[in-house]
Amino acid sequence: MSGIKVLVSGASGRMGREVCKAVLKESELQLVGAVDKMNIGKDVGSLIGSEPLNVFIQGELIAGLNSCKPQVVVDFTAPATVMNNIRTTLAAGIHVVVGTTGLTPENLQEMNELCTQFKVNALVAPNFAVGALLMMQFAATAAKYFPQVEIIELHHDQKLDAPSGTSIKTAEMILAGREKQVPSTIGEEKIKGVRGGEMGGIHLHSVRLPGLIAHQEVIFGGEGQTLTIRHDSMSRESFMPGVILAAKLVCERPGLTYGLEHYLFQ
Ligand code: NAD
Repeated sequence: MSGIKVLVSGASGRMGREVCKAVLKESELQLVGAVDKMNIGKDVGSLIGSEPLNVFIQGELIAGLNSCKPQVVVDFTAPATVMNNIRTTLAAGIHVVVGTTGLTPENLQEMNELCTQFKVNALVAPNFAVGALLMMQFAATAAKYFPQVEIIELHHDQKLDAPSGTSIKTAEMILAGREKQVPSTIGEEKIKGVRGGEMGGIHLHSVRLPGLIAHQEVIFGGEGQTLTIRHDSMSRESFMPGVILAAKLVCERPGLTYGLEHYLFQ
């Protein structure tokens, strides 16, 4: 076995299991470790419906890093835990690919400093699906021509944070791409919060329902016209080409990168 050695953190979860499957299919990557609070001691093969892999779920990240010696950690855990995982990984001199959402600007600043201090690299991607990245790019382009926009993001009902990292990144890209933001009208809210949350004058709406995976609509409004840009992830496989690309490239892209578009489009 050869290739970049990868440890998956959150390996028992919905995304973590897909990542394990995707890494196993990729000849340039090698799955050497798996960490999760659930299914400790189980062979990863039994979680993903394959033959035994001799890679067992470990309960503590630091133990996984010490025993498996990965070059890259891919983290799909939970907003409450991700920052500690990042600190542990970077301080151990190991590159990290972060899919877990919920990181704040202060967290990103700290990651930047840790990358410099420990001379390691990190990629944080609110969304790994190429279609979603294109949706954000198209929205940033449209932002110059439409001063008003609202974002509706729709996710499965087990998602822990709202709004989604993708909607926040989209709003940031729209705001960066325009000279002025026309404040949106609110009117009288008969039900508190019915006009959604607000970020820099852009209204964000979060829908949580069983049956959904990850979806987003960016709706621009102008005189006599609207422009809707929509992306749908119909399965978690949609994220895997991006995760695999990130795991391969993070070793050679210095410092912190925020957004997979910087690996894909540049
Ligand atoms: P999930 O709940 O199915 O899986 C999370 C896993 O992490 C669970 O198995 C849980 O036991 C484990 N975990 C929690 N705390 C841990 C800890 N301290 N140490 C080790 N393991 C721990 O969630 P999911 O649907 O797989 O999503 C995971 C994260 O990925 C969420 O933040 C979600 O928003 C994000 N996500 C990102 C993208 C993207 O493209 N960036 C796509 C989908 C989901």
